[in-house]
Amino acid sequence: MAADSAKIPRVIIVGGGFAGLNLAKKLKGAPVEILMFDRHNYHTFQPLLYQVATGAIEVETIAFPIRRIFQKQKNFNFLIAEVTRVNSEANTVDTTLGTYSYDYLVLATGAATNFFGNKQLEHFTMDMKTVPQALNLRTMILQNFENALTEPDPEKKKALLTFVIVGGGPTGVELAGSLAEMKIHILPKDYPKLDSNQMEIYLVESKPRLLGVMSEEASAKAKEYLEELGVRISNGVRLSSYDGETVEINDGRKFQAKNVLWGAGVLGDVPDGIAKEHIVGGNKIETDDINRIKGYQNIFAIGDVSATISTDYPNGHPGVAQVAIQQGKHLAKNLAALVKGGSTVPFHYFDKGSLATIGRNRAVADLGRIKTQGFIAWIIWSVVHLLSLIGFKNRMLVFMNWVDKYFSYNTSTRLIIRPFNEELMTEDTAAR
Ligand SMILES: Cc1cc2nc3c(=O)[nH]c(=O)nc-3n(C[C@H](O)[C@H](O)[C@H](O)COP(=O)(O)OP(=O)(O)OC[C@H]3O[C@@H](n4cnc5c(N)ncnc54)[C@H](O)[C@@H]3O)c2cc1C
Repeated sequence: MAADSAKIPRVIIVGGGFAGLNLAKKLKGAPVEILMFDRHNYHTFQPLLYQVATGAIEVETIAFPIRRIFQKQKNFNFLIAEVTRVNSEANTVDTTLGTYSYDYLVLATGAATNFFGNKQLEHFTMDMKTVPQALNLRTMILQNFENALTEPDPEKKKALLTFVIVGGGPTGVELAGSLAEMKIHILPKDYPKLDSNQMEIYLVESKPRLLGVMSEEASAKAKEYLEELGVRISNGVRLSSYDGETVEINDGRKFQAKNVLWGAGVLGDVPDGIAKEHIVGGNKIETDDINRIKGYQNIFAIGDVSATISTDYPNGHPGVAQVAIQQGKHLAKNLAALVKGGSTVPFHYFDKGSLATIGRNRAVADLGRIKTQGFIAWIIWSVVHLLSLIGFKNRMLVFMNWVDKYFSYNTSTRLIIRPFNEELMTEDTAAR
């Protein structure tokens, strides 16, 4: 579908994540026609996916319909489709719905999981970047508890209750803490006939410490909190193989486990057609200081898929929501200026700090020079995440879930909607 050159310029935004959403919102009232594509009809609040996976909150509270967000924005259009190719010479994108032309193109496609080329690990481990993946993970965890209850073979029972989390970044740490809470508070109530001490949680991180992006203080405290919750942490080692039954760690350990969760790396999710010379480490697209892809005039990249390399950020900005949000808002101002023939302003990231939570009452927070851990950090983490959710109703629902869970030590979202089987585990394409 062609953009009509006699009309206002068309901005195609690929991706309704933190970056794309904030760009589109900030372009409200700008003299452009926005066309957003996303594989899903909703925005996903990825930081709380782990709480969906462990049955702490309902999925609807962290996924918000994109059409609903933009009901009142007249210059906004949306289509559910995957953008498969960028044709920069023709100023068009190929999508699963056909070809569309643009005047300006913004890639805000985020990141996919990096299995470092290991097809076996990609096939047999579970990752968690999307709503379908978090739901599949929840199903697997609950189904394995059910199976453990009736499994007569003690070795197989132990494997069903053994969890290995690969990757000690914020995702792995938060997931480990949440699983440990399930072991302590949920398993004994829901499955009194299972010995909850048999549930083992391993956290494997190849770097010397957890939460490598945070301060050493935060790392040490996170490790201490997790160990208090019974998580077995191994630093400086890697998962070398997993065939769906046996875990092999490169320090020689070998044991059976039915739950292996992968959170060890990401790769920029780049559609075909962007010149390879502009792809840098982590499969990110290199951009200049106004987020324009190097070598192109009217194509931009923001959020996790992009890397603006500078002295301050030699590997590009960190892959966090704040960067994506700030880049989206900033690019809106630059695009509005460009269509009016005005001048652009370079992007500067304002780092508000990092947070990670470890079960109830415990979190670590690096807020500039202020570093705090424990209950205060947990309150800060809770408030920041509540306020970041889209929609008043979602904030209230999550808040109520958390209050209920806090006082009852229980949750009520442990539904097995469809039985877990290998098809769900390998539902790679559908799950994205
Ligand atoms: C489990 C998890 C926990 C996290 N926790 C935190 C946290 O606590 N704090 C924090 O700051 N950050 C956290 N992050 C990182 C944060 O979520 C990302 O930095 C942020 O989502 C990046 O925003 P984005 O807009 O670049 O990409 P995304 O939010 O990933 O959005 C990309 C969108 O593009 C769509 N898309 C991709 N390719 C195509 C295509 N070809 N065609 C159509 N649509 C496409 C996708 O469907 C998706 O909706 C976490 C991430 C994960 C996975």
